[in-house]
Amino acid sequence: MIIVMNPGVQEEEINQVVDKLKKVGLGVHLSVGEQRTIIGAIGDRKLVMSMGLEALPSVEKLVPISQPFKLVSRDFKPDNSVFSIGGSSIGGEEIMVMAGPCAVESEEQVMETAYGVRAAGGQVLRGGAFKPRTSPYSFQGLEEEGLKILARAREKTGLLIVTEVTHPQAVEVANEYADILQVGARNMQNYYLLRELSRLQKPVLLKRGLSATIEEWLMAAEYIMAGGNYQVILCERGIRTFETYTRFTLDLSAIPVVKQLSHLPVIVDPSHSTGNWRFVPAMSRAAVACGADGLIIEVHPHPAEALCDGPQSLTLENFSDLMQDLRKTAAVVDKRLGQVV
Ligand code: PEP
Ligand code: MN
Repeated sequence: MIIVMNPGVQEEEINQVVDKLKKVGLGVHLSVGEQRTIIGAIGDRKLVMSMGLEALPSVEKLVPISQPFKLVSRDFKPDNSVFSIGGSSIGGEEIMVMAGPCAVESEEQVMETAYGVRAAGGQVLRGGAFKPRTSPYSFQGLEEEGLKILARAREKTGLLIVTEVTHPQAVEVANEYADILQVGARNMQNYYLLRELSRLQKPVLLKRGLSATIEEWLMAAEYIMAGGNYQVILCERGIRTFETYTRFTLDLSAIPVVKQLSHLPVIVDPSHSTGNWRFVPAMSRAAVACGADGLIIEVHPHPAEALCDGPQSLTLENFSDLMQDLRKTAAVVDKRLGQVV
């Protein structure tokens, strides 16, 4: 249930409602927007209805949230969520471009990529240190050594770091090194992992599961927010369909749908969805044009030698060309590419 306060409401009046809700054991989520203050009451809807809150002059109305996701819902928070990450922002007028190799392979590979990404205007360096591979015989990642390499690349270039956490035990160590923690498609419904991440105050990039509906994806985001971590970035990375020409089918319609349903930022991964570097530029431009708040793109200095996902990785040169194009696409939708601060 959400309690919509009247415009111009005073702080004491907000506190009065918050205290009443807390007193009867309800959870409270306060959202102070430019136009409106909204108080989310989490718990038994009937109890909230029976409290006579509508009789208070500061309260405009009580609105039930019909969707199963609450904190994630735009009913709960009508304004877009804009998060500040290391001085950069996501969810507003800036497009955040994250780029880097699928996996951290060596210091040289990461440094070469990081300098290239930085020169092209990227903001965030991606790189997997824990690799959830479909085959147990494939390269599984450098783990903490890989995280250390990423942290050194941040020191040298000023790029932020995003890396995947595959299991609850990896969260503590990854949290020491990374600026954004990624939940991979294969782990979207790993609720123990989501709970662990919900205890942090660090942005979580939540990829859509390979076969997850939009509602299942938003419910996974709800797990993270329900535990107190409100900084969730959704990532559409392609879903399974009957089509086999591309690795997955990039569901671009999910972007406007999620924007309607939720206030959370949403980004697109054109690399894992298409599985082919040749299609990455077109889908990146399309993603920005349809409202995505950012992109996460696989880039490798020598794709033919990559230990993982070489066929879908852009060279540094191709990435730099794409960034030029994206500047123009962003301007068409009244946005701009974010910059390293
Ligand atoms: C990744 O980004 O490295 C990755 C494994 O992607 P996904 O979880 O979308 O398959
Ligand atoms: Mn990959």
